[in-house]
Amino acid sequence: MSGRLTDTQLISARMRMVDEQIARRGIYDQAVLAAMRTVPRHEFVRPEDLAQAYGDHPLSIGHDQTISQPYVVASMTQELGANKNSRILEIGTGCGYQTAILAEVAGLVYTIECIPELFRAAMSRLVKLGYNNVTGTVGDGSRGWSEHAPFDGILVAAAAAEVPDALVDQLAEPGRLIIPVGRHLLDQQLVLVKKSEGQVSQTALYGVRFVPLRTSES
Ligand code: SAH
Repeated sequence: MSGRLTDTQLISARMRMVDEQIARRGIYDQAVLAAMRTVPRHEFVRPEDLAQAYGDHPLSIGHDQTISQPYVVASMTQELGANKNSRILEIGTGCGYQTAILAEVAGLVYTIECIPELFRAAMSRLVKLGYNNVTGTVGDGSRGWSEHAPFDGILVAAAAAEVPDALVDQLAEPGRLIIPVGRHLLDQQLVLVKKSEGQVSQTALYGVRFVPLRTSES
C-alpha cells in the first residue's frame, strides 16, 4: 500500500498512462515504452500528489519547479536515441524521474541540479530504487560537465534563451542535444541539435512550457 492507493492500482494507472498518453500519441521506441512502464513515477511526486502521479500533466515538485508531463519525458528521451552504450548528460535533475527513465535506456547518466535540496532528495530516491549508473552533482548545468564529456546525448529539462555553446561543444559525434529554447514561457520550442562529422544542425520539434534554465548571472 502507498497511502490510500494499492500497489496494484498504481501499477495499473502506470500501464494506462503508457497506453493512452505515450504509445497512442506516437512514441514507438520500445526501450522508452518499457522504461515508462517500469519507473514508479509515484515515488517521485509529493505525497499529496500521489493520486495524480500518472496524470497527463506536469506536477509541482516544490521550490517553484515541476516534474514534466509524462509524454514530454518520453518524447525527449526518444529524441536522444540512447542505448545501453550511451553516456548521457541531464541538466535539471529535479525530482529525478527523468533521470530514472534515462538510467533505464542508457549506459551511464550524469545529472546536474542547481537546487541542493532537490538534488539530495532525487539522488536518495534513485539509490533506493537501485539505479547504480547515475552520477550527479549540484551546480550550474548550463556549462555542461566537461570532466565527463563528450556525451552521446544531452537532455536539458529547463528552458534556455538560446542553445548554450558549452553543451554543443561537449556533444560527441554523432551526438544529440534536446533542449527547450525560448525567452518567454509562452514562446518555447523543444529543439533537437544534432552534431555529426563536424556539422551541427538544429530542428524545432514542438511548443513546450518549461521553467527557465538558470545561469550563473540569473
Ligand atoms: N526532469 C525534472 C525536471 C525538473 S524542472 C523532473 O523530472 O523533475 C527543471 C529543473 O532544472 C529544476 O529542478 C531546476 O532547479 C533545474 N535547473 C534550472 N537551471 C539549472 C541549471 N543551470 N543547472 C542545473 N539545474 C538547473
